[in-house]
Amino acid sequence: MARGVREELAGIASEARVLLERQRARGRKRIVLPDAPGLNSPEEKVSGSARGVDEAGAPPAQAALPGFEALAPPPIAPASRGVPGLPGTQPLALHPDLPDSLEALAAAVAGCRRCPLCETRTQTVFSDGPPGARLLFVGEAPGADEDAQGLPFVGRAGQLLNKMIAAIDLKREEVYICNVLKCRPPGNRTPQPSEVAQCLPYLEQQIALVRPALICAMGLPAVGALLRLKGPMGAIHGKTFEYRGIPVIPTYHPAALLRTPSFKRQAWEDLQIVRDTLKRLTA
Ligand code: SF4
Repeated sequence: MARGVREELAGIASEARVLLERQRARGRKRIVLPDAPGLNSPEEKVSGSARGVDEAGAPPAQAALPGFEALAPPPIAPASRGVPGLPGTQPLALHPDLPDSLEALAAAVAGCRRCPLCETRTQTVFSDGPPGARLLFVGEAPGADEDAQGLPFVGRAGQLLNKMIAAIDLKREEVYICNVLKCRPPGNRTPQPSEVAQCLPYLEQQIALVRPALICAMGLPAVGALLRLKGPMGAIHGKTFEYRGIPVIPTYHPAALLRTPSFKRQAWEDLQIVRDTLKRLTA
């Protein structure tokens, strides 16, 4: 299906969900849209974990984008904290069984043996950046350079990320950078679902502790982990979703940009959206 058609369908689905949410808010328990094939199908029902944010800042229910598969809701503990002043009403949740400070969490990760990647790592890679950062970048997993240095995004992809950050008038020291996985998969292979499932609570705890105003998810593994969506990046990059009250903008992973430089124009457009959204949220 052509991209223009997909985007148009996505827009229609998003509008339909806004209508559904409004009617639910008015107390209607059963809502049927008139002659809107596919829009009321069970697989497009709202998961409640990740939702789009419209231009007015209101969080409509996230559309199941054409070509995307909505995954199961994330296994997150009951909400315990809100995010004052941010769009959306889903509160962040601290995992009660994980440390409630970034320092203690990093120490716990350093000794983690939850998945087989602990056998092949040189060291864990927790994060880089200040705890109070307003913008959080999340990627997929450490590579060889990161595994050697213990810091995320320090290889070629990291150098490109530094340029991307500078392009939106920020310094690397001002943003928080982390990955879904804290240990390098051998040969930089794609993370396995079981590894993501074991490691994701650490990322969720990081986000709940940093409480950024905006998240930029780089690459499909990061998008899948946070938003429970999988599908082509071309259909979602630059759009705004929501993770527990925090807007999330997907874009291409810097490593993908190195492999396919023709994606850089779209990535640049995404970064402009990131910059403008962050300014709006932190004004
Ligand atoms: S990848 Fe995550 S879950 Fe697996 S051993 Fe490393 S820190 Fe633990």
